[in-house]
Amino acid sequence: MAEICVFVEYVGEKILRVSQEAVSEAVRHAGKFDARCNALVLGHRVPSKVLEDLRRFGVDRVLVCEEESLSEYSTERYTDRLEQILQDQAPDLLLMGSSALTRDLAPRLSARLCSGLVTEATFLNPQRGGLQVTRAAYRPHASMIFSFQAKGPAIVTLAPKIAEVERAPSKDRFTLETPEFRGKTLSLRVDRVNIEQAVREIPSQVDLEDAEVIVAGGKGMQAGENFRLLEDLAEVLGGTVGASRMAVDLKWRPRESMVGVTGKVVSPGLYVACGISGAIHHLMGMQSSETIVAINTDPNAPIFRIATLGILGDVQDVLPVMIDAFRKAAAEADRQERSA
Ligand SMILES: Cc1cc2nc3c(=O)[nH]c(=O)nc-3n(C[C@H](O)[C@H](O)[C@H](O)COP(=O)(O)OP(=O)(O)OC[C@H]3O[C@@H](n4cnc5c(N)ncnc54)[C@H](O)[C@@H]3O)c2cc1C
Repeated sequence: MAEICVFVEYVGEKILRVSQEAVSEAVRHAGKFDARCNALVLGHRVPSKVLEDLRRFGVDRVLVCEEESLSEYSTERYTDRLEQILQDQAPDLLLMGSSALTRDLAPRLSARLCSGLVTEATFLNPQRGGLQVTRAAYRPHASMIFSFQAKGPAIVTLAPKIAEVERAPSKDRFTLETPEFRGKTLSLRVDRVNIEQAVREIPSQVDLEDAEVIVAGGKGMQAGENFRLLEDLAEVLGGTVGASRMAVDLKWRPRESMVGVTGKVVSPGLYVACGISGAIHHLMGMQSSETIVAINTDPNAPIFRIATLGILGDVQDVLPVMIDAFRKAAAEADRQERSA
């Protein structure tokens, strides 16, 4: 492996967490193989802080492609530019953090380059015969291992929270370059996909994938206003509120808070499932949580099969007792700390 590229996503001046993880992983792999690690940044007026941060992550080279038409993400323009860069650079591996954007971009890029693609990778294992990549099938029960047959770069998106974010010593040979497109302008064809509106998630929802504690509610919460109980419990536990798809479909919670195969995949230290049956689509998004507490009135609810602790009862009865107990415990801990 001689050249590794890593695609960098940023919002404002901040490199997204999933991209920081991908960059750290790329730098580690490059270090093992004495390969060159290239960060690819697309946009318009890319903040200097982003570029400086990349130097601090220990990449060898940043290729910055700045054009006004790249100021907002466009499936086709980003694919066009990355295709050109990757054809010129011919890396062995292109790493990306898994995100909504790369879920759109990576498959297109792999089709254009006739490259192999593995999404949501959990482990990268370079072997003599080439790279092997693991991804979960039905976490934690099965996983799949892939190797790459195609000639182009192996394209891999990394599942969140798989790689440690690590700063490495900046490289003496660090360079910042603008790729040459030798007169190739971006295709002027009309985009086949229009992004009508980009809606920022509110901070408490953005935190879902990073949260150490998630208190999630399902149809068993019985009404949107009852999620106030979950907000109170999340507050006292220092966590955030998630939801099942049913709760989202019923418009009790915003779509961004949905946990599951079509929502977010999370693995917090504590997951409290309230009035959630435990359908496979939901379990696939949270079953790798360290501790799972389930509250349900149905003793046969599938969620109890994976729960560390099951509470058979009505959320309306159980949650106020829990909130009260945790508030008292927090107040007591606070009192002891003050008197110490
Ligand atoms: C292709 C596809 C993708 C999907 N993706 C997702 C996904 O990403 N995420 C997701 O969550 N779902 C997803 N689903 C839907 C999923 O299959 C389930 O329908 C959904 O998860 C059920 O949500 P729920 O547990 O809130 O509701 P239900 O299955 O209706 O369960 C409600 C639970 O609440 C309990 N209950 C009722 N009243 C109370 C009470 N007072 N106190 C305590 N417990 C009570 C009931 O016993 C029951 O177990 C997907 C489905 C499909 C087909």
